[in-house]
Amino acid sequence: MYDVIVLGGGPAGYVAAVRLVEKGFKVALVERKYLGGECTNWGCIPSKALIDLSNNLYSLKALSKAGLSYSIERIDYSRLLKHVERAVIKSREGIKYLLSDVDVFYGVGRVKDVNTVEVLNNSKVVKELTGKNIVVATGTEPNVIPSFKFDGERILSNREFFELKSFPNSIAIIGAGAIGCEISSALAKLGVEVHLIEIMNKILPEVDKDLSDVVHKHLVKQGVKIYTSAQAKYEGVTPDGKEVIVKLSLGSDLIELKVEKVLIAAGRKYNTSGLGLENVGVELDSKGVISVNEFMRTTVPNIYAAGDVTGPPLLAHKAFREGMIVADAIAGVKNPLPRGPIPMVIYTEPEVGLVGLSETQASKAGIAYKVFKFPFIALGRDYASIKSTPEGFVKILIEENTRKMLGAAIVGNAASEVIHLFGMGLTLGLDLTELRKVVTAHPTYSEVFSEVVNEALGEPLHGPRK
Ligand SMILES: Cc1cc2nc3c(=O)[nH]c(=O)nc-3n(C[C@H](O)[C@H](O)[C@H](O)COP(=O)(O)OP(=O)(O)OC[C@H]3O[C@@H](n4cnc5c(N)ncnc54)[C@H](O)[C@@H]3O)c2cc1C
Repeated sequence: MYDVIVLGGGPAGYVAAVRLVEKGFKVALVERKYLGGECTNWGCIPSKALIDLSNNLYSLKALSKAGLSYSIERIDYSRLLKHVERAVIKSREGIKYLLSDVDVFYGVGRVKDVNTVEVLNNSKVVKELTGKNIVVATGTEPNVIPSFKFDGERILSNREFFELKSFPNSIAIIGAGAIGCEISSALAKLGVEVHLIEIMNKILPEVDKDLSDVVHKHLVKQGVKIYTSAQAKYEGVTPDGKEVIVKLSLGSDLIELKVEKVLIAAGRKYNTSGLGLENVGVELDSKGVISVNEFMRTTVPNIYAAGDVTGPPLLAHKAFREGMIVADAIAGVKNPLPRGPIPMVIYTEPEVGLVGLSETQASKAGIAYKVFKFPFIALGRDYASIKSTPEGFVKILIEENTRKMLGAAIVGNAASEVIHLFGMGLTLGLDLTELRKVVTAHPTYSEVFSEVVNEALGEPLHGPRK
């Protein structure tokens, strides 16, 4: 009998397994397809490999504007995608190595009873594993949207997209959340004709408008054609079979697009049905999110859940954290690590970094707060860069009574790194007087941290005078 059986080898599952082994437990992990889950295989890793390539190409364009002329002979899309594939394989192999002391079983796992997991291959039970505890970390699946059916050839989810052997000349991306915007930005910079379609009235619907406006402007500059308040409908393929026809309703206007591929990036659905969870008493909500307490324990005492299956934010580092909490909980650690605050990064160019409450959330919650901003236009490191983002800024929300940070957001270069300074302040519950003790080196992007804290204290340093 195993101490723990983990279902799913993505960020939540493999981290739980690694930690449990470190703590001396005997662990089995059941994975349906590839180690690393969505993140390694069709998510974080391939998307960032692609984004890195496109950002480097874009830097060359910026260099030429600054006087350094060059010419690119050709872009070999299939070799670029090989680079992406190499990154995926490296990540997968790394996880395999980390799991050296875990018994990994490939197949579909299903909970038979509170101590038994069946492993199925081609719908047949090939193994039964028994364990004292079970961890459910089965993640999510791409969402299907009305009228578009994934066909793996023209209508793609992120999974088929990252397995393409070459890029299309044109693509419609449906859904302008983080994933849709990131991939649009990358492809447009690599020369693909990109149509980004969003049903809501702005891109990045969950992000404050002052930030998403900056991203919108840059996506347009990079060549992305954006349609907001737009409803897309599949209208078949062109007579030569080469392109998909997508009809867009934009209020009373109708537009027809012809594109080689359509990528659906319109949310995720929880991978929790068919796992046998309801039969053993694990409570799920109507969307399929598993209910857990602060120890990631479900409504069945020896069954835990971690990662995307426990609900938003659907992020790999949230999954890592929850995997660690599961391991601590099974080991009997009394004070679990906190589950948040979880930072979020959007890897567009410029990047967005978010942590804690947004202005929209704080207003909705009726919290009394003040907002302070510092513009990138006053940041030496940024204006010295060939890729400066003068529209960029950082903002912090300070609670009026306590003078503690409620949240922070950055749009601009290096937002993906600098946001963690704010995350640290927020996690440790520091107030402005404590935050101002931090010295940041000059000239760095991290200086936005000290600058905006100075702003909030009413002692601006390099910021604009009122
Ligand atoms: C295009 C894209 C880009 C992304 N970029 C980022 C990013 O930059 N940063 C970030 O933080 N997050 C990003 N994410 C989100 C991130 O990938 C997920 O939040 C993360 O993978 C969740 O980890 P998980 O372990 O909960 O689930 P998953 O990664 O989905 O892993 C679940 C695993 O369980 C397996 N499984 C499912 N059912 C069974 C079963 N019955 N039996 C056995 N195994 C099963 C699956 O095969 C899978 O391997 C991105 C997602 C996408 C789609």
